[in-house]
Amino acid sequence: MGGLMKRQQRKTVWGKKAVHSALLAALAALLAGCSQPKEYQESSVYAMDTIMRFQVLASPDSNLEGVLRDEVQRVDLLLSATDPDSELYQLNHREGEAFTASQELADILDGCLEISRETGGALNIALYPVTQAWGFTTGDYHVPDAATLSDAMEKIHWEEIEMDGTQVWLPEGMELDLGAVGKGYLTDRCVELLRENQVSSALLDLGGNIYAHGRKEDGTAWRIGIQDPSGQGLVASFTAEDEAVVTSGTYQRYFEADGKRYHHILDSGTGYPVENGLESVTIVTDNGFLADALSTSLFVLGLEDSVTFWREQYPQVGVVWVTSQGEVYYTENLEDRFTPAEGITSHLVEA
Ligand code: AMP
Ligand code: MG
Repeated sequence: MGGLMKRQQRKTVWGKKAVHSALLAALAALLAGCSQPKEYQESSVYAMDTIMRFQVLASPDSNLEGVLRDEVQRVDLLLSATDPDSELYQLNHREGEAFTASQELADILDGCLEISRETGGALNIALYPVTQAWGFTTGDYHVPDAATLSDAMEKIHWEEIEMDGTQVWLPEGMELDLGAVGKGYLTDRCVELLRENQVSSALLDLGGNIYAHGRKEDGTAWRIGIQDPSGQGLVASFTAEDEAVVTSGTYQRYFEADGKRYHHILDSGTGYPVENGLESVTIVTDNGFLADALSTSLFVLGLEDSVTFWREQYPQVGVVWVTSQGEVYYTENLEDRFTPAEGITSHLVEA
């Protein structure tokens, strides 16, 4: 009954006069749109500890920049491990046993745990105490002492995370870090907004998480390069269309101590940075979250195990591995659009 009342009231508000002025406003907007041809709008924002760059084909007065920026802030407030106002922070600093998460956070946690199960724990969102021990969360980088590290290692058993709908139970002392998937998840949300706003062409670079939306304005496909982990150049490039291209690499965050390099992707077994002869792994697929989760996971698995994993579980996804020797391995589903840089030794990985 209440609903019906509201509908009747609305009818009075939308009288003839209101409809008339709405039509005029729509016409004005249409004319304004005509006078403002679309061109690439470039903007950037600092969030999730990185620079995010947007290149979006839109009319200059479209305010897509503001729309994307608001979404970046919204997702950051959901997933930040360090912002006391974020939902993840509240989960990490829960009181009592159970925490009721939003549906959105619960879905992300579910998705992560699924990949953790599939990869035998290569992806471990419960590693936060160890990441903290290395100072990767604050920038106060240092090799942790053995006691601090073994203390942190007690709290990273992701198999003990329990979920029932949006209810989450974490063992005492456990804290989660969604750094391995956050930018990929945000990518998907931004792409959704591009689609809602009828954007036909855009290139997103969320701190190295690339998404090629549609094609370039001239009708050719976006070409994405894979960075040489040991230098400034590229080891390969390939075209991408409506795809995320996400790289996990040793060069993206690291510090040096006593002449040794320590990077930010950690092994749950040792608590130390993964050392398996890989420098980077790039995933190419239409889902940013999956690309981000898999880039970290395959990096941790190493070349041999991740090739097996790819063949068995994700043969539809494109993968590019760069080894410490500077050699490139790429999956055969990328073959017809993949160009290794001059002088780079490359190997095709068959399904
Ligand atoms: P990415 O750049 O997507 O590979 O994510 C790396 C980030 O994920 C790190 O900076 C840490 O915050 C976190 N991390 C490091 N090692 C792991 C791991 N084995 N599983 C899950 N997250 C990790
Ligand atoms: Mg990742």
